[in-house]
Amino acid sequence: MIIAKFGGTSVADAEAIGRVVEIVRSRLDSRPIVVVSALNQVTDGLLDLAQQCGTDNGAELEDPLAALVERHQKVGKALPGCSAAVDCITADAEQLRNHLAAAKDRRLSPAEIDSVAGKGELWSSRLVAAALERAGLLIAWVDIRPIMVTDARFGRATPYTQVLNKRARDQLKPLVEAGTVPITQGFIGATATGEPTTLGRGGSDFTAALLGAALGVDRVEIWTDVDGLMTADPRVVPSARTLSAASYDEAAELATFGAKILHPATAVPLARAGIPIVVLNSRHPERGGTTIGPRTELERMGDSPIRSISWKQGITVVNIRAPRMLGTYGFLRALFEVFERHETVVDVLASGEVSISITIEDRSRLDPIVQDLMQLGDIWVEENRAIVAVVGIGLRHTPGLAGRVFNAVWPANVEIISQGASAINMTFVVREEEGPDVVRRLHQEFFGSC
Ligand code: ADP
Ligand code: ASP
Ligand code: MG
Repeated sequence: MIIAKFGGTSVADAEAIGRVVEIVRSRLDSRPIVVVSALNQVTDGLLDLAQQCGTDNGAELEDPLAALVERHQKVGKALPGCSAAVDCITADAEQLRNHLAAAKDRRLSPAEIDSVAGKGELWSSRLVAAALERAGLLIAWVDIRPIMVTDARFGRATPYTQVLNKRARDQLKPLVEAGTVPITQGFIGATATGEPTTLGRGGSDFTAALLGAALGVDRVEIWTDVDGLMTADPRVVPSARTLSAASYDEAAELATFGAKILHPATAVPLARAGIPIVVLNSRHPERGGTTIGPRTELERMGDSPIRSISWKQGITVVNIRAPRMLGTYGFLRALFEVFERHETVVDVLASGEVSISITIEDRSRLDPIVQDLMQLGDIWVEENRAIVAVVGIGLRHTPGLAGRVFNAVWPANVEIISQGASAINMTFVVREEEGPDVVRRLHQEFFGSC
């Protein structure tokens, strides 16, 4: 059994869905379960609608919703055998239109926003299922929400793995064993009481990983718009090369620090079970892609001790200067309790003799965080920063690497430097506008091109 997950660009239009059909057909012997994302940019469009409800722009939601529905209708019309799927999408969109119209004078609740955001996956999966059925495959469209049971943290819900494992085995496995191809949705779930939730942006990869781990599949295939995990984001470094292999740890570090190709949590359930992730290009299925598996020295990238470079923008640095307290018991606990209380994830931490710097991505609770931290010391905040991460198992035993990194980064000013305990990554903070150039200079240094 395998999971084949198709991202937004891999189901973007009728042609792309046609390619999905051929890929799934070529995998039938491996007994696939298909997980799909929304058509590309549809989730952005739905979130815009949901967030504008009850604002001054709320009156103008009809047109953008109609455009989203028309896009699905157009794809459905271009694919033979999809008229029932199109009717189903149109009827669901009509309900959504009524809901938004009824709510136009108020902001939507987080639960309502998740319900709207998740429509894209429900709609795309209808189209993909119909196209596969029309192609002669025995399929079953499966609503993942009763299987993917999560907590109620709307927008970034956490699945309850024990429940999900049992339900996936009870409900998906028999379908596969009966020779059917289940088609289901990434990204979405529901609370135990049935309220729709989402797993966070890019969450379809995580869905694929969770289902793969639950079912003990042979591999999880992530079909996307590039040839695999690369030495850098090809949008930043056009000459970036595809890696044929990477370890779970490397993939997780790269994803955490901005490599959008995988959701940061994807490797976690699969690493535990030792199930490989294969990242593949749906436009070029014949290319080998990247296999992500247990820690390995499998491949050397030429002479480079590092595997890849990633970067993440929109970072805020919170600095705390507390000369008297830093060396005392309980100070760090008090510090982290503030971030915990405000449910804000800390990415990078660096501490000096009298001060500590912490980076966060989510600024929504910044003001109350700063208020609370002021009890602990002097606080100053720096905005518009980026984190750059240099990742590779080779970092472990290559002396003098820091010097090479910082020479390459010059003349950009490096503000915070941190090396993970696993010693396979080196991260630092630069000004946001310098991020892409820094990545290119590092790529030149370690891979000889930019
Ligand atoms: P999907 O819609 O298939 O989930 P995403 O847009 O989420 O695809 O992720 C694929 C994109 O990730 C690529 O188009 C590429 O620009 C970006 N990316 C960022 N870092 C990397 C990297 N190291 N290797 C490959 N792609 C990367
Ligand atoms: N459609 C969702 C998003 O755009 C999930 C995903 O693509 O993985 O975030
Ligand atoms: Mg993605």
